[in-house]
Amino acid sequence: MDAVATLIKAADFAAEKHRTKRRKDAAATPYINHPLALARVLRLEAGVEDVAVLTAALLHDTVEDTDTTVEELAREFGPEIAGIVAEMTDDPALTKPEKKQKQVENAPRLSPKAKLVKIADKICNLRDVARNPPAHWPLERRQAYFEWARAVIDGLRPAHPALERLFDEAYRLKP
Ligand code: ZN
Repeated sequence: MDAVATLIKAADFAAEKHRTKRRKDAAATPYINHPLALARVLRLEAGVEDVAVLTAALLHDTVEDTDTTVEELAREFGPEIAGIVAEMTDDPALTKPEKKQKQVENAPRLSPKAKLVKIADKICNLRDVARNPPAHWPLERRQAYFEWARAVIDGLRPAHPALERLFDEAYRLKP
């Protein structure tokens, strides 16, 4: 499959899988806006051209948040993309605080391609928390989210100068 076909297939696959999901912001934005925002940041803002990275960005939350399995992704998109998404998936056996701690610990060990998706994910989440925060998140929780995201990203530097610059810009939106 060529690059365009792969990306269209991934966008459609993710839209279908996240069909009933909404973001936590007050407007309950459709979930698919989030993976599309990652692909936009990677390709249009940071100039990343690697198709596996862009495809994995579109799919990055499907295993964590839907019934999708890594095996299914490997079948549909191949082992490299499935592997990147697996790296983006928190262990479901852990509690929420444990998952957050694990992301900080694991950041330095991510593969180079997973690092790019991880930075884009945190850029998009910081922008959302700053501009379009989850309903009912008090100031302290929004600030704590920024500090945690920073700890994750600081652990995986150096990875990609343009993406890191975009992350640092997003961090300056801290409420
Ligand atoms: Zn995400």
